[in-house]
Order: sequence, then structure tokens, then C-alpha cells
Amino acid sequence: MEKTDILSLTLAELETYIEKMGEKKFRAKQIFQWLHCKMAETFEEMNNISLALRTKLDEDFCIKRLESVRKLESGIDNTIKYLYRLPDGNFVETVLMEYDYGISLCLSTQVGCKMGCKFCASTIAGFERNLYPSEILQQVYCTQKDTGKKISGIVLMGIGEPLDNFENVMRFLELVSSADGYGLSLRHVTLSTCGIVPKIRELAHKKLGLTLSVSLHCPDNQGRSEIMPINKTYNVNEVIEATKEYIDKTGRRVTYEYAVIDGVNSDRKSAQSLVKLIRGINCHVNLIPVNSVSERNYRSSRGSALNFQKMLTEMGINATVRRTLGSDINAACGQLRREAGSEK
Ligand code: SAH
Repeated sequence: MEKTDILSLTLAELETYIEKMGEKKFRAKQIFQWLHCKMAETFEEMNNISLALRTKLDEDFCIKRLESVRKLESGIDNTIKYLYRLPDGNFVETVLMEYDYGISLCLSTQVGCKMGCKFCASTIAGFERNLYPSEILQQVYCTQKDTGKKISGIVLMGIGEPLDNFENVMRFLELVSSADGYGLSLRHVTLSTCGIVPKIRELAHKKLGLTLSVSLHCPDNQGRSEIMPINKTYNVNEVIEATKEYIDKTGRRVTYEYAVIDGVNSDRKSAQSLVKLIRGINCHVNLIPVNSVSERNYRSSRGSALNFQKMLTEMGINATVRRTLGSDINAACGQLRREAGSEK
């Protein structure tokens, strides 16, 4: 029988297991703290738990681990890009970014991606599988252990579409924010989506307090469908309506991500359509100079993004141009994993 993935269990679930084993309930909390505060990798380390219980735990449960196989450190700032090997031989990427206010981690939620955005390296080789909550958590724990620095913020903007792995991502959020565990406030979490409308609405109902970031990238349906196939299922207007609901339900401001691509969405007409679409919405626009991906011909520069920003500002919409971190290790998201292939 396959062992249960203990890191993916909530404290309440662990308590149920422990009581079924005939042990006292408080033992569950001790084990949970070993896993999520001390980040134990083996049951053997848990030295306030009896040897008999540790042996039993080892028979029934596994602690999923990641192995760091590549680590690229920027010589310009303190950005670090990790390539982690999952227990089944697949790979994911995690990026650590250092800001004045703390350390933020960009996490992957899937191996590959189904969404097919034309400018994105993560999706070119297709979709392999969802990450388990434990595998998303271990990106945090392994990186913290490697650097010795507490992670103060998380962005779900690595490989994968978080709302396409909804249950596991929700469970990850519950675990990482647990007061008995890692205790990261969800106020310091940003979830980025390409626009899976029913899931945006479901997330709104949960009122988790996290920041929603929506990858808009193009204000009109024809253009957006060309670069983001998901637009054929949930179009621009439906995405905008869903984000309005998110704002209404949560009281939080939404971010629209806009990767500026020369000759595709960087002209004045695009800026005008964008302004028309989002005027009056409690939102922020984040402009990203598109990272070129070797297989695609998309190009832009900080100059194009700044120019687009200027047009938006003139029309009364505030936007920022995303600061480029780690530009010397700037393999676009998903590139490292593709270079590594799979060892499955
Ligand atoms: N699937 C989610 C999160 C992962 S991508 C989403 O679509 O939002 C995180 C952000 O990076 C998204 O806004 C995505 O559109 C953007 N992105 C992907 N590839 C890019 C590239 N080559 N250049 C600039 N931004 C890119």
C-alpha cells in the first residue's frame, strides 16, 4: 500500500489519524510542528515522540522531499533560481527574490501547463501533472533551509496555472498559513491566473485575503485569443466581470498583468482599449517587458513597456513596469526545467 503523504495533511486530519492509532491527540500537533516549523525530513528526528510511534509513522507515512539540482545566483541582485527534482523525477522551478521589505518566493504549482499561452516557456512541452500540496510547500521549506532566511511573501507565478490545480493549491494555502505551522499570512500571498472564470469566482467566495493577479495581456478578444487560448473558453469580458466580483466580495484590489509585446499589444489603440475596459475598477496594472522564449519571436524592451505606461498614465490609468530582477539568470520561467528534461 502506498504511504500517505503526511505533509499534505491538515492538523485536523493528522489528529484523526493519530487518535485512530490509539495515541493522544496532542501528539499530532507535535508532529505537525516538526514538519511545518522545524521542517523535519525524517521521523527519526522527532525526538519528543516515542520510538514506537516514530516507527509506526514511518510505516504508514512518507515525507515528500525535493532535491535541489541546480541553483543560479544573480551577480546583480540577490535573486536565486532553483531547479528542484520531485520524488518522481520531474522538475520544477522556484525563484527567490529579495526586496527591501523581505524575501519573496515565486512557486510552481504544476509540472508543465495546459494553458498554451504563446509567449510562455512553461507550457511549450505541455502538461505533466499537478503538484501535491506537500510539493508546493517543500519549495518554501527547502529554499528557507538553503538560505537560512524566513520567507515573508509568496507569489504563485511559477510553472503552472494555480487555478487549474485548485484543490491542492487551496490546501497548500491552508497549510502554509496555519498558525501551528509555518504561519505565513495570506495577505502576503499573490495568486496569478490566466483567467479561469469559475475558479476566480470560487476563490472570491472563500475570501482568503490574498491578492489576485490576472494575466490579461490583451484588451480585445481576437488579440487575446491569439496569444492566450484560454480566452476562447473565458473571454475578456467574462474575466473582467469575474475580477469585479472578486473585488466586491473581498474588498481587495486586483492586479492586471500585461506583458508588452512589440507589434502585438503595445500600440496606442491597445492602450485605449485597455483603459476603456478597466476604467473605474479598483485595480493596478503591472506591465512586463515580455521575456523572449527561444521558440517564439516575441520581443519587447523596457523602453516599450515604459512607452505603454506613459500612454496609460496620460489616459488616467496608473501602471508600473515590473522591476527586472536577476536579469543575468533570466532564463524565462520554465526554461530551466525544459533544459533538464525529465528523469522519469
Ligand atoms: N498561470 C498563471 C501563473 C504563471 S505565469 C498565469 O497565467 O498568470 C506568471 C506571469 O508571467 C503571468 O502573467 C504570465 O502571463 C507571465 N509570463 C509568462 N511568460 C512570460 C514571458 N515570456 N514574458 C513575460 N511574462 C510572461
